[in-house]
Amino acid sequence: MNLIFLGPPGVGKGTHAKLLMEEMNIPQISTGDMLRGNIREGTELGLEAKRFIDAGELVPDSVVIGMVKLRLQAPDCSKGYILDGFPRTVAQAEALSGFAKIDAVVNLIASDAKIMGHLTGRRVCSRCSNTFHTSRLKDEKVCPDCGGALIHRDDDKPETIARRLEVYKRQTEPLIAHYQETGLLRNVAVESSLEANHEAIRGALGLTA
Ligand code: ADP
Ligand code: ZN
Repeated sequence: MNLIFLGPPGVGKGTHAKLLMEEMNIPQISTGDMLRGNIREGTELGLEAKRFIDAGELVPDSVVIGMVKLRLQAPDCSKGYILDGFPRTVAQAEALSGFAKIDAVVNLIASDAKIMGHLTGRRVCSRCSNTFHTSRLKDEKVCPDCGGALIHRDDDKPETIARRLEVYKRQTEPLIAHYQETGLLRNVAVESSLEANHEAIRGALGLTA
């Protein structure tokens, strides 16, 4: 199954995409993780992307589209994949339709208060990219999964969060109507426990227990 996870920053796209990835044995493709990987490795693409990410703006379509197109050609994508954080603009969605056949778009919905709480308390493992919330961590400075350093992303600081939410509303939210029209949209409210939310996503995709 070729899936897209849609929704505002901090709604839990990454967390839920990872859970589903493990169950379905298909890769989660997070453009945010890929871009941050490029920044860490100091590639040209990373250098170009960094100033946009730091400002809470979107990285230009041409950069991200090329990156995803290449990634989807890798052998591990042949049995399906979960796109997490892509497409984020109508232009990206249109480009994607030229090189991928999407089966469903999961649109995660949560209140602004919940989203803010997720973002301000989020810590990310610098090695495996898993995310954790301060409310669930004790005092760990390292990743409970792999021992990598846990970091507070610069763009998870309050000033940049506000900008990212604005950018989401203006540039990404129109995708909901776009995928509604194509009949691929599956709305899922993610306001309960992680486990219940995961089940709701599975239900929306017609995956039985
Ligand atoms: P979140 O889902 O919490 O916003 P991501 O890790 O998906 O975080 O994205 C972090 C940043 O990376 C975005 O604010 C944006 O600058 C950049 N980015 C990620 N995916 C895309 C994309 N598809 N198009 C443009 N920029 C992107
Ligand atoms: Zn880790």
